Amino acid sequence: MFDLVIAGGTIVDGTGKAGYRGDVGIKGERIEAVGNLSKAEAARRIDATGKTVSPGFIDTHTHSEGALLVDPQHANGIRQGITTEFLGIDGMSYAPLSAYNFKTYRHWLGGLLGDPPEDLDMSSVSAFRGHYHKRVSVNTAYFVPHATVRLQALGFHDKPLRGDALDAARRMVREGLEQGAVGFTTGGRYYPGPWGDTDEIAELCREVRAADKVYMCEPRSPQVASRAFNKHGVSEGMEAARRSGAKLHFAHYRTNEQTAGRIDKIMAPIDAARTADHDVTFDIYPYPTGSSIAISYLPDDAQEGGPVEILKRLRDPAQRRAIAAGMDASDADRLATIVFSYMPNAPELEGTLLRDIAAKRGRSRGEVLLELLLEQNLKVGYLAEPPESQEVWAQLGRDFMELLAREDYMVCSDITPAGNHPHPRCFGAFPRFLGRLRREVGNLTLEAMIHRMTDRPACRFGLTHRGRIEKGWFADLVVFDEAKVNDTATYREPKQFPIGIPYVIVNGAVAVDDERVTGIYAGQAVP
Ligand SMILES: [Zn+2]
Repeated sequence: MFDLVIAGGTIVDGTGKAGYRGDVGIKGERIEAVGNLSKAEAARRIDATGKTVSPGFIDTHTHSEGALLVDPQHANGIRQGITTEFLGIDGMSYAPLSAYNFKTYRHWLGGLLGDPPEDLDMSSVSAFRGHYHKRVSVNTAYFVPHATVRLQALGFHDKPLRGDALDAARRMVREGLEQGAVGFTTGGRYYPGPWGDTDEIAELCREVRAADKVYMCEPRSPQVASRAFNKHGVSEGMEAARRSGAKLHFAHYRTNEQTAGRIDKIMAPIDAARTADHDVTFDIYPYPTGSSIAISYLPDDAQEGGPVEILKRLRDPAQRRAIAAGMDASDADRLATIVFSYMPNAPELEGTLLRDIAAKRGRSRGEVLLELLLEQNLKVGYLAEPPESQEVWAQLGRDFMELLAREDYMVCSDITPAGNHPHPRCFGAFPRFLGRLRREVGNLTLEAMIHRMTDRPACRFGLTHRGRIEKGWFADLVVFDEAKVNDTATYREPKQFPIGIPYVIVNGAVAVDDERVTGIYAGQAVP
């Protein structure tokens, strides 16, 4: 007797091999049988006739850790068919941190990760994982984040990580990996991360190599690359991997408005540095622009001391004007595209452009951004406006599919969920690739697309018995309509669920039932 049989669908098993008609029988958390189960007894049958049954999607890059603690149903993730989310990405998250440092970092990251309870134990990776295991709708995997480790080892200060502090940081990375983290991450612009250099990252990556796990690198922003090897974020990732021997994964690596159509250009620094030993993979989300937090724009010296000191500087009009002048000069292009996604104390400003608010207030964009940071107690999330040109959009869509066709690419969402006007990727990344782009560009079969969303990341990051439809494997499954599945979230109307994904199963439990989120928290801390 099965607990659940998903009957009559086309099974696309995650490995890339051709789909076939069949039933999937589930007992407890696992897949018990695959084949013709028409005569088998089952407590429940889901009719998947005319639909595709695939493994649940594995999302290699999200920032859901704060949101999951407040809203464990996590409809925007699970309704995309995502059954496993990677956390601790871009070098910043909550563990391992002391109670004091957790409070500090929770504040600094508030515009991105929201407001989880302040009294949680984040002192170890084990403690962190415990907050999610069977308490949220999706499975979660964690990476030990570089900036977090740096904060715990040195405080929120521009100091070199050497000697005893480096030993302590190495120990934190090692223990985190022993406690179940699947890798280590660095980020583009999340303090105190940028105060580190390539030497310390390479040292920390030695622990990643020893544990045979993965170093995931979001290359540094050019504005904070002065301490990077070759003064370049990609070079730094390649060099840290070369010196340590760690496997390397570049986060959401893609062309953008400036490089549309020039995949050769974005791959050049990687190809130039690549040696025979380099083992490099990538992920990608299908949108032309990204999303982050305003506080990351503040320059090096304005970040010193962390949130309390930052607020003191912003309260002083002379210091505020001086910092703003620097930002207006060095970040003018980026400031021009800011759309606010999250301002909990002024939700009426969510969805508005910085340049419009600046025009209204009659001050520079940099000055107004700092005023808003002060007014919002530093909690300001934003996304970048998409390009106006339809041609650029179409070219980028083709670029993304060309990248995804490679042997070394997989799919991510980069969910940044805080706020009323989030980036559309929070609701639409997977269905956008699976529906719209697969159908429009047509260079990948359904089986190849599913492989990049399931078995490929599971193998790369060592998730055991996930990512395939196979007897004995965990029953993380998605039932979708191949012809209909699509994203509906847009930059203007981002909080729109996808269509054509009626059922999502996590560890054998029905998490989405006929497009309704059930509120069952079967997600496990994996692997
Ligand atoms: Zn990210």
